[in-house]
Amino acid sequence: MNKRLAVVDQTLCKPDQCQLECIQVCPVNKLNQECIVLSDDRKLAIISAPLCTGCGLCIKKCPFHAISIVNLVAPVEDKLVFSYGENSFKLYGLALPEKGIFGVLGDNGCGKSTNVKLLEGKLKPQTLSVKEWQRFFEQTPNLVVKPQELVAANLGKVGLLLDKIGGPRLAQLKQTLDLDDLKDRELSQLSGGELQRVMVAAALCRQKESFLLDEPFAFLDYAYRIRLVEYLRQHFSDQQVILVDHDLSLLSYACDQTYILFGEPGVYGIVSQPYATDRAIHMFLEGFLEGENVRFREEPVRFKPPTQETRTEANVVLPSARIERGTSFFVDNPSEITLNAGEIVGLVGRNGTGKSTLAAHFSQLLGGSLKPQLLDRSDDLVLGVLREDTPFQQRFIRDMAIKKLEFFTFQQLSGGELQKVRVFEALSQPTNLYVVDEPTNMMDVRGRVALSRLLREKSKEGASILLIDHDLEFVLNTVDRLMIIEGVPSKHGQVAGVFEKQDGITRLLSDFDLTYRRDQKTDRLKLNKAGSQKHRKLKESGKYVE
Ligand code: SF4
Ligand code: SF4
Repeated sequence: MNKRLAVVDQTLCKPDQCQLECIQVCPVNKLNQECIVLSDDRKLAIISAPLCTGCGLCIKKCPFHAISIVNLVAPVEDKLVFSYGENSFKLYGLALPEKGIFGVLGDNGCGKSTNVKLLEGKLKPQTLSVKEWQRFFEQTPNLVVKPQELVAANLGKVGLLLDKIGGPRLAQLKQTLDLDDLKDRELSQLSGGELQRVMVAAALCRQKESFLLDEPFAFLDYAYRIRLVEYLRQHFSDQQVILVDHDLSLLSYACDQTYILFGEPGVYGIVSQPYATDRAIHMFLEGFLEGENVRFREEPVRFKPPTQETRTEANVVLPSARIERGTSFFVDNPSEITLNAGEIVGLVGRNGTGKSTLAAHFSQLLGGSLKPQLLDRSDDLVLGVLREDTPFQQRFIRDMAIKKLEFFTFQQLSGGELQKVRVFEALSQPTNLYVVDEPTNMMDVRGRVALSRLLREKSKEGASILLIDHDLEFVLNTVDRLMIIEGVPSKHGQVAGVFEKQDGITRLLSDFDLTYRRDQKTDRLKLNKAGSQKHRKLKESGKYVE
């Protein structure tokens, strides 16, 4: 039988504010055995996993959702690398940098951050039985990390920061990521996409051997995503790169091999051996590791393109507008645009052409509800926004598994959790226009598939949704039409119009010179190599997604 794990969240467990319900209901305690006891300082419940029968009563009764009890899905006890404590999160296996570009694909909360901290040397592995691990940790840490969350505070001007780091790759990186355009800007004034480009360059220009890029594609448009991937393939194939991201088509394009990270969020994570990337993606979506004969999810994850419905009842009119930022930037919507009731319109285009600025303007002008690109953290409890008044709210909370977050503060959430709660908050407002700006940043694949379905459900209530996102798979599976902004990044943008989905995608992808085919096994989108026969054929046919 696989090992049982009991986790008590130290932030959530508050024995001085509860009736010790866990201890009262535990059937093993009732038999006078000490399955659940309080710690010596009486500040935390402690559960004995060997005594626990897994009945689950304490999980249901704890008023703060502090307890999780699960069985490991695989016999990996001998692969334990790190545990935060007896009743705390455990990581089995480790994604290690090796020569080449390696992906890491997994669910939020399954140990990605722990893996990163171990590689950085911020945590020390507690068991090291595998030779390669020992070798890695015996070397002087030689790893550069591009962190997931982007922090710009007090770092000064872009040009000064990058020139201070320097290095022989800097000039190329500046050119690849158009950083000279940003050199005189303060980091604190950059958009998410601009800041991401600077942070990626700041990591890659260093003279090190191993690089870990944590969600480097978040906030970047398709053109920058592809440029970055091409740059990595050209210049880093002989180095050690780990790329953690949830954009499957880019992982498939960029990475030689990929680790799968699975488990129970907040309880444990298991890192698989690395597999050829397409095989890893297939197994991750299926929830079954063929090589290790482990089923880690009952249901496969499937992308479901929406059934095409024609919506013609006008709902909101986005007025013509011109918004200027100083003398150096403007975005223009030359004519009125009507959004129909119940439709989702994707707002797409290059970074820095004013998508977020324009969408936020429309939301404010028309009394809409906005989920902004950059998210606030506060000391308020999540409980304050998790209302369950409508069937949609109940479904969202269930499908996104956010109920268990209600006694955390926004400050304590992970990036993916914060994203889910802020999207919920925006979609809970009564209005006829929702603006949802980059909701998939930091969200795992399962969350993206569920969110796509939930946005479709929300639109059926009759409001219009304006959706900005750069995950093409997510956009194509979610929207009815596409509003395209064209222009010159960081200088100006202009709405080119609202197009039927097929026409819009052709216009967008021809601009980026990208074509996609469908993976026959999973139906997901796969990016064609530039210059490949497939790419040329699709371009000639004028159909950019096969
Ligand atoms: S686990 Fe829950 S019920 Fe048990 S002491 Fe902690 S807060 Fe109270
Ligand atoms: S799950 Fe385990 S710890 Fe919780 S009540 Fe049941 S036996 Fe006790």
